[in-house]
Amino acid sequence: MFGKILYPTDFSDVAEKALAYLKKLKDSGAREVVVLHVIDERGFDHLNRVMGDEKFEALKKYREEETQKLLSGVANELKEAGLKVKLRIENGIPVKEILRVEGEEDVSAVVIGSHGVSNLQELFLGSVSEKVIRRSIKPVFVIKR
Ligand code: ATP
Ligand code: MN
Repeated sequence: MFGKILYPTDFSDVAEKALAYLKKLKDSGAREVVVLHVIDERGFDHLNRVMGDEKFEALKKYREEETQKLLSGVANELKEAGLKVKLRIENGIPVKEILRVEGEEDVSAVVIGSHGVSNLQELFLGSVSEKVIRRSIKPVFVIKR
């Protein structure tokens, strides 16, 4: 039923908690996990003006390389559990990219953390997870902090 799953991660503790759950979903028919990290371009693009094109491109490349390393760690863990893994890095606004990839990859469900790196105590949900839950057309499993 849940053959292909989208797992957006910001590498936060809550998002990492979802890994154990993803492994368990294998018993419910999960075969493949699309692991997605969105490099949030907001609060970053203005650096282009400050740094100039060359340094900015180098910084972008560095960020993507570091993301790739983190994603590889996640991939290894899921592969060890016998799941097929596809890694994706997108640049943009997290909610937008998550929903776009959800459609593009035609996944059967989304597994997301209730909170992420901010993890504010008084918030019921983080802003990314709230919007994904609202707008996703697929079932969303929310991993609580
Ligand atoms: P906020 O960002 O609103 O301050 P938060 O950081 O506590 O709050 P969210 O950002 O909503 O919470 O994170 C909830 C979940 O959304 C994460 O556990 C992760 O699964 C996913 N997520 C958040 N940001 C990204 C991102 N940049 N790329 C991929 N997935 C993300
Ligand atoms: Mn966040």
